[in-house]
Amino acid sequence: MHAEPFEYTRADSVSHAIRLLEEIEDSQPLAGGQALIPLLKKRKIAPGTLIDISHLDELHGITRTDSGVRIGALSTHREITNSDLLARLVPVLPAAISKISGGIQVHNVATIGGNIARAHPAYDYPGALRASEARIHIAGPDGEQIVPAAEFFCGACKTCLGESQLVTAVEIDSWKQKRCGGYAKKKEPASGGSVIGIATDLLFEDADSSRVSEARIAANGFQTHAVRITAAEEALRGCIITPETIESTADAAGNDIDTDVILDNKKASADYRKALLGPYVRRSLEKAISN
Ligand SMILES: Cc1cc2nc3c(=O)[nH]c(=O)nc-3n(C[C@H](O)[C@H](O)[C@H](O)COP(=O)(O)OP(=O)(O)OC[C@H]3O[C@@H](n4cnc5c(N)ncnc54)[C@H](O)[C@@H]3O)c2cc1C
Repeated sequence: MHAEPFEYTRADSVSHAIRLLEEIEDSQPLAGGQALIPLLKKRKIAPGTLIDISHLDELHGITRTDSGVRIGALSTHREITNSDLLARLVPVLPAAISKISGGIQVHNVATIGGNIARAHPAYDYPGALRASEARIHIAGPDGEQIVPAAEFFCGACKTCLGESQLVTAVEIDSWKQKRCGGYAKKKEPASGGSVIGIATDLLFEDADSSRVSEARIAANGFQTHAVRITAAEEALRGCIITPETIESTADAAGNDIDTDVILDNKKASADYRKALLGPYVRRSLEKAISN
């Protein structure tokens, strides 16, 4: 199918893009187009005007900050997967993004900003950003704001982004001691999205320690939006990593989770997703400590 006709315009800057989004009724930003163009072609959406932001320098770059790292909204999956800085400071992020489907074409053009603005439950960024306690930088007609990932994602394809607002960057704090990250994903065969994707960010007490100071474990594809698996986190906090503690963490993962809140759709039933939770928590932990 072809898209409905639409107008196209290029923004010169972030402030220009926001002004255009405000002034032009029924307009929408275009970044890598890897979610937007398929939706247009399937006629699931028909915006009047696309505001192209894909060339804006101010939205590019992965840079060190005083507290950690700043990832520009136009950073591609490939840039994130190949970033030595992220591999060192926030290993869970490249671990998760390397598992995104779609091949090199998607990885070369699709962006972190477009992925999290779309916020599909089967996408891989949200869990990694919840696990690493990222903050999302947003700019809009009323200025700038910084929102924790826990508040940014609020439902299936729903975020806290308001009218004419843009994601400009994602910021993640570093950890002074040892940090490991892993991602285990059960792919949905047709789309390549997550039936379940478990992101694990392990913070250790000191540089040589195997005692976990904090375990942050989050799931994609499990509920309408990415959630922290708190029972598993609590089971591991303060423990030395051993095969036994990994096993007991995986066993604890499903505690206190009501089947009613688990995604139940044509891709997978809630019972199936619940059965995958413990085994994928185990795999994600094993990947984190082997990285
Ligand atoms: C074949 C294929 C397989 C894929 N497999 C996976 C997968 O396994 N896992 C996964 O996570 N993703 C997957 N994707 C999705 C892809 O990773 C995302 O669609 C992509 O990251 C969206 O980024 P984009 O830059 O292309 O955004 P666009 O398509 O340009 O935009 C997506 C949405 O976000 C809005 N938007 C874009 N940038 C901003 C911004 N800075 N601020 C506010 N709103 C913005 C747009 O208006 C639009 O609504 C796949 C896509 C394809 C085509």
